[in-house]
Amino acid sequence: MSLLRFKMVDAAINHTAVEVKAPSGRPSDYFGELVFGHEAMKKYLSKADYKALLDTMENGSPLTRELADGIAAGMKQWAMDNGADHYTHWFQPLTGGTAEKHDAFAEPDGEGGVLEEFSGKLLVQQEPDASSFPNGGIRNTFEARGYSAWDPASPAFIVDTTLCIPTIFIAYTGEALDYKTPLLRSLTAIDRAATEVCRYFDKNVGRVNSFLGWEQEYFLVDEGLWALRPDLMLTGRTLMGHESAKNQQLEDHYFGAIPTRVIAFMRDLEYECLKLGIPVKTRHNEVAPNQFELAPVYEPVNQANDHNQLLMTIMDKIARRHHFRVLLHEKPFKGINGSGKHNNWSLGTDTGVNLLAPGKTPSENLQFITFLVNVISAVHRHNGLLKAAIMSATNAHRLGANEAPPAIISTFLGAQVSAVLDKLENSKSDAAIRFDAKNIFKMSGISHIPTLLMDNTDRNRTSPFAFTGNRFEFRAVGSSDNCAEAMIVLNTAVANELSEFKKAVDAKIEAGVKKEKAIYEELRRMIKESKPIRFDGNGYSDEWKNEASRRGLDCETSTPLIFDRYLDRSTIQMFSDMGVLTQIEIEARTEVKWETYTKKIQIEGRVLGDLAMNHIVPIASKYEAMLLDKVYKMSQIGGGLDASSDIALIKMIQRHTAAIQTGVSALIDARKAANKIEGERTKAICYHDTVAVCFDEIRRHIDKLEEIVDDQIWPLPKYRELLFLR
Ligand code: ADP
Ligand code: MG
Repeated sequence: MSLLRFKMVDAAINHTAVEVKAPSGRPSDYFGELVFGHEAMKKYLSKADYKALLDTMENGSPLTRELADGIAAGMKQWAMDNGADHYTHWFQPLTGGTAEKHDAFAEPDGEGGVLEEFSGKLLVQQEPDASSFPNGGIRNTFEARGYSAWDPASPAFIVDTTLCIPTIFIAYTGEALDYKTPLLRSLTAIDRAATEVCRYFDKNVGRVNSFLGWEQEYFLVDEGLWALRPDLMLTGRTLMGHESAKNQQLEDHYFGAIPTRVIAFMRDLEYECLKLGIPVKTRHNEVAPNQFELAPVYEPVNQANDHNQLLMTIMDKIARRHHFRVLLHEKPFKGINGSGKHNNWSLGTDTGVNLLAPGKTPSENLQFITFLVNVISAVHRHNGLLKAAIMSATNAHRLGANEAPPAIISTFLGAQVSAVLDKLENSKSDAAIRFDAKNIFKMSGISHIPTLLMDNTDRNRTSPFAFTGNRFEFRAVGSSDNCAEAMIVLNTAVANELSEFKKAVDAKIEAGVKKEKAIYEELRRMIKESKPIRFDGNGYSDEWKNEASRRGLDCETSTPLIFDRYLDRSTIQMFSDMGVLTQIEIEARTEVKWETYTKKIQIEGRVLGDLAMNHIVPIASKYEAMLLDKVYKMSQIGGGLDASSDIALIKMIQRHTAAIQTGVSALIDARKAANKIEGERTKAICYHDTVAVCFDEIRRHIDKLEEIVDDQIWPLPKYRELLFLR
């Protein structure tokens, strides 16, 4: 073991759990104490301001300047009472992370002193110097300014000593430069379209909310070992490393006892989350060694997404406190499971009905089936686009690349729901759908009635989009992703589907067809048409690839080409009809996607080349020299000593180091050629087709050397150390 590696392994073994300061009181005492929520608002705002703010939060009514000033004053006072001395607009640029620029409350008062200032103007809108955020050309073409604007629907919070105000981020000309803007627009779209459809069933519905419950998977690695892995440090994943003899074969990690050092980290993290109003609920070991999961209770999408973005930042911070590094990359280690971020998604009315849960009355059940079928139909129609929404250079390792399952979106409904849809598709009558006394789902008037127990839906872990009884679980989302992208596409596609459904049903009603019959007829047609998206079998199998392609589903595996779906005429039309993204915005965002893809592969290529040439080849050569020395001395002594196996070993090392050198120079040439390309799309395609393809061969030889070269001089922490020390 190299001296440094030895030291770090030794340190990792000796790290004990960090003492966590016990929270004072119970979660109900400190939940949301760092959030400017209703309690703080009531305390720090005048009654009139509080009422007006509620109206803005709930109904989007415009804020007056006076109101903004009143709120800013209250917010500032609350923040200072809780130890804050700075404020920031907190937004979500297209980098995938969050952005913040802190300003002090303190302002010179003109008389040699300072005063704490925070006006409504500063609360509502700012102009961050944002010229270096990704913009896909929007800001170059038009005006180089960007604005951040307050999102009153998501409460402000305090991190360390800074008041963070969630904002959208837009160009001077109004185009979105972030995730939150289109997310909010998509929530408006789904609200509008879904509410109209709900009114077929219940005139009292005034609003439909979209909910998100994310499950965040991640790895923890000891920080000393991490620091000795430039690949983990710079790319978030290991670009080399021989499989550990034991990894997840025994399946002994999943739901196992959580290691002491890890539980200390989790408790610390949960405490911070609860203070920030993130309703964390579940924690457990995941399938791979050193892989874990954290999930909160679901919330409205906007808040849930802000909370996930915030979580990713604080996770990193808390992990460091515990001498860990958190890996959010989708595939940090070859040969073992990657990480995802399951997005549990549902729609609910302001009358308290979950539109994706079977109901109690025939009317509620028809409503449930209506929404279910509209979702399935939207997913079918836009399966390629949904894949584009979750695809990235990093998530490609979970979908489409080497060991990953096929990059195909399908939906799993389970045997019982499928049977209901089949019955409906083939039924001639407009038979009512209802529950009997035991919550058993029935369709009357049809023999061999399929039954559906509400909480007894079967599970299929291989489905990228599974119905789980009262919600859909979009599992293909990447662990490092901003959930917003998936939520924007899903909500917009479903909104679009619902509004077309409404148009078709209304047309029938106008032509004299009775409402229920019109709905049934339309549903029947949609069930038939969207059938190819339904798949209950093994989504990871090769047979499915062939079958899916026969069914006409999108089977493209190249990430840059998958992004093309954003520019399909039907996509542009849909986003524009729903008022979510303009063509200019879509084009700009797609540019950013290609650009980001290229940069990620470029960085990986550089790191791999550097490591191969500066770490691996020199160390292998050193070992080779030791062997040569031995062989030489043996030949000097003679006396029947046989050096043939040593010579074979030397030749083997020679072969691998030579192949690495050739591979690296091919990689450099490919990169140079790709860098000359002008267009972002063509460049990304070139990086995919000619650069990324070089990685595996180089890695193969490095991993072989890891097996041969003396462990005492190997510089990089091995998989067994990264994955099992904690
Ligand atoms: P699993 O068995 O998949 O781990 P959990 O019960 O732990 O399921 O829930 C996973 C996530 O789904 C949680 O965030 C939970 O709050 C969320 N969830 C539950 N019901 C809904 C719903 N109706 N809409 C959206 N998310 C939901
Ligand atoms: Mg789940």
